[in-house]
Amino acid sequence: MSGPPINDSPSDTVLPPQSILQEIFGYQQFRGPQQDIIDHVTAGGDALVLMPTGGGKSLCYQIPAIARQRAGKGITVVISPLIALMHDQVGALHEAGVEAAFLNSTLSGEEASRVERRLARGEITLLYAAPERVTTPRFLAQLDALHERGQLSLFAIDEAHCVSQWGHDFRPEYRALTVLHERFAGVPRMALTATADALTRADIVERLQLEKSRQFVSSFDRPNIRYTIVEKKEATAQLLRFIKREHEGDAGIVYCQSRKRVEEIAQTLSNEGINALPYHAGLDTAVRQANQDRFLRDEGIVMVATIAFGMGIDKPDVRFVAHLDMPKNIEGYYQETGRAGRDGNASNAWMTYGLQDVVNQRRMIDESPAGEEFKQVMRGKLEALLGLAEATDCRRVRLLTYFGEAFGQTPDFKCGNCDNCLSPPEIWDGTDAARKLLSCIYRVQQQSGISFGAGHIMDIVRGKRTEKVTQFNHESLSTFGVGAEFSEAQLRGVLRQLIAIGAVTVNSQAFNTLQLTELSRAVLKGEITVRLRESISMPTERKSRRDKAPAPAVAALSGTAQARFAALKAWRGEVAREHNLPAYVIFHDATLAAIAERAPQSLHDLQGISGLGAKKLEAYGEEVLRVVG
Ligand code: ADP
Ligand code: ZN
Repeated sequence: MSGPPINDSPSDTVLPPQSILQEIFGYQQFRGPQQDIIDHVTAGGDALVLMPTGGGKSLCYQIPAIARQRAGKGITVVISPLIALMHDQVGALHEAGVEAAFLNSTLSGEEASRVERRLARGEITLLYAAPERVTTPRFLAQLDALHERGQLSLFAIDEAHCVSQWGHDFRPEYRALTVLHERFAGVPRMALTATADALTRADIVERLQLEKSRQFVSSFDRPNIRYTIVEKKEATAQLLRFIKREHEGDAGIVYCQSRKRVEEIAQTLSNEGINALPYHAGLDTAVRQANQDRFLRDEGIVMVATIAFGMGIDKPDVRFVAHLDMPKNIEGYYQETGRAGRDGNASNAWMTYGLQDVVNQRRMIDESPAGEEFKQVMRGKLEALLGLAEATDCRRVRLLTYFGEAFGQTPDFKCGNCDNCLSPPEIWDGTDAARKLLSCIYRVQQQSGISFGAGHIMDIVRGKRTEKVTQFNHESLSTFGVGAEFSEAQLRGVLRQLIAIGAVTVNSQAFNTLQLTELSRAVLKGEITVRLRESISMPTERKSRRDKAPAPAVAALSGTAQARFAALKAWRGEVAREHNLPAYVIFHDATLAAIAERAPQSLHDLQGISGLGAKKLEAYGEEVLRVVG
């Protein structure tokens, strides 16, 4: 059987969006607001689309592009900063039978000319281009020619937050995109982003002049991601346990603070038999590109990276994102964890954090050359993240509330998929311990005339006669041993909280010694209570092991279906290599699992499997039957 031809002469058949979804992409239903957005844009409306990562933004412009091309309206230009990924995006469309191309600096002059000729002949449905390319006089002149013939159908501005300096990835070239509106008035424009905060959103509307466009704001909840934050003890060992218990053989990303740490952790994981690669800005461009390609193309690679890695990575089956060090703020945390589970299957966002993270982040802010006002904003954002880490209630509610979304507003709400909801932590009142720590910091300073670091202060409070305690005669202090009943872990928790709320500061210029602040007095006087969670790492780790949630479709397969699934995966790997594309562009795991489950005997049996459109059925149907036969 063969599907309808896709890029033949325009306007012979006008396919409704629902049919395009089914026949070309092989999906049965629209997700969330996709249908509304697609109807609006297909009809020629402007739109601003805010949807979390993995929400399905691509179809929101791809389907209108196909529908409008078939209605004789010409090409759609997709503007994206992600040059390194355009090849795969276009490859994915080709696999589905859609005519697409890209123009960017990776093409030779000759290749670029070939694309331009195809463009002029109206052979392309979607053209991907970088913003700096779109705004060149040469390219604009080509668009003029298309526009005059009524063959310029739609502009889709992807990663639209790049236009805003409030976003996390400001690109000045995006500012020049106003030319589209001015020069091609009447050509519909849509802007898409996964960045949620209100400041960025308002900036996009203003900078891209989308005041009159319809706004489609989705919930930013990612229900398939399980959030877990554990106390840092031996971070590397904790990470290893986490990966071995829950993600053996899975693809994942491990974020670390520094390049050096990236190298070390990648090495450690490799030594432990985990397929890990490093990625950071200090690596040679070729090595970085090669590692990224392997992450996308091979299966089960763990990328150990700094935040330089990840934007636009649309690998759907990243099963976990781990933070070995704390990020700077909740925006960063949410962006990074959002790279897990784009395919909607169960995934983990796991972070370790400890006192040292708090100290480091504070130091980076204090030592940055920025102005005091900016530093104040940064400290506020850090505090919000500490609040999330120390939280004893639902992490998801905290996250979404931070982004201004009303979520889980009832008093005892439980999302059912974060550590705190799955195994509520024991809470204890740390006010007494906090006061003891603060008065100890005060007494020590008074007696010795200098300040000390966290370890020594905790030793005194717990009444430990260390060498240093004896050396400075700190047994004689009235606070020596006043907190003998507390464990070191408890006191650490109290200190983190005190630093988080600003009742203690860490002097990074003087050996990270602890100092009191204005706010200390309020705690000492009992005006502020300190509520803490009991040591947090153990219960959640135990819990999550019991609850390991494998990708459902695959796990549910019977023994013989598992064998078919394995054979299909091996076959897919060969095809992907032949086509120089990532395996998931050929078929998602879920599609292979559905095929394995159905044990098809004929092409007819393959119909209606999600992710198997007409073109793929035609191209691969027979081979698939042979592989499972
Ligand atoms: P985003 O760009 O919003 O992060 P994508 O467009 O990459 O998300 O979509 C995420 C994944 O979901 C992709 O693998 C895509 O094929 C899949 N997807 C999108 N819409 C649907 C749908 N209606 N039905 C099934 N899968 C979908
Ligand atoms: Zn929860």
